[in-house]
Amino acid sequence: MEIRTVGIVGAGQMGNGIAHVFALAGFDVLMTDISQEALDAAMALIDHNMDRQISRGKISETDKAKALGRIKTTLKLAELGKTDLVIEAATERETVKQAIFEDLLPHLKPETILTSNTSSISITRLASRTDRPEKFMGFHFMNPVPVMQLVELIRGIATDDPTYQSMVKVVEKLGKTAASAEDFPAFIVNRILMPMINEAVYTLYEGVGSVKSIDQSLKLGANHPMGPLELADFIGLDTCLAIMNVLHEGLADTKYRPCPLLTKYVEAGWLGRKTERGFYDYRGETPVPTR
Ligand code: NAD
Repeated sequence: MEIRTVGIVGAGQMGNGIAHVFALAGFDVLMTDISQEALDAAMALIDHNMDRQISRGKISETDKAKALGRIKTTLKLAELGKTDLVIEAATERETVKQAIFEDLLPHLKPETILTSNTSSISITRLASRTDRPEKFMGFHFMNPVPVMQLVELIRGIATDDPTYQSMVKVVEKLGKTAASAEDFPAFIVNRILMPMINEAVYTLYEGVGSVKSIDQSLKLGANHPMGPLELADFIGLDTCLAIMNVLHEGLADTKYRPCPLLTKYVEAGWLGRKTERGFYDYRGETPVPTR
């Protein structure tokens, strides 16, 4: 089946970026959220981010106007039932995601493909609670979506090949690159990235290096564009901790135990850039290390 219309559930950080790239690639997009403010903020952000792409010569004014014309918003989840592909990008809580799928199922066309942008929740488990586990997949975009080239495609145990092939075509149409991952905790990118970030926090916790020396070492010594602590602040320390917990519980191996210092920052509400404090303090002109 050719995918022409896409429904996006959740208009947060990821949802707005996903709407942005689909609309630019020519898909008709219908985005929903529980909050009208979130939908309005998402549309304003898409407008702003497309202006940045225009100023960098990546897209034209016409591309922007056409893309914005393709995005519609609604507070009614049921309206997404008429789309060919649904991408769930709501809050990372299993009960929230399950309730969304339950409410959506009675309105869906039989051929609609259902996907989740979850960073860590089992695709097989989410799929098993729907009427179409064979047409259910993990569709994991990276943040920020308009900038990052990779998309992870995760098949649940029951996902059929036509569904997977349809999604490969969608990723090609977006001009992005797909990596295929099996459905195990945190898939590929976060399975490798998060333990490295967690180890950087242990390195700090044990006093091997300061925030500055750890980030500088990985940037200049391993050619990473960002230091691991800087990157953790960008992702959100609560998200990093949640993913480490999924790895620890899901793989039952002590090598994934979250660093107590990471837990302490999260308990303090120092979640990184989004709260203006994490391994760096962002409240001034330039970020200042907190250790
Ligand atoms: P976010 O908090 O920015 O946005 C979540 C949005 O979902 C909010 O606008 C909220 O109002 C909405 N929402 C909550 N319940 C809803 C419901 N029942 N129906 C409709 N909308 C609802 O979160 P985010 O960072 O965009 O993350 C969304 C998903 O993407 C999560 O599953 C997360 O794991 C995944 N993800 C996040 C990142 C990242 O770097 N932040 C990267 C890849 C994947």
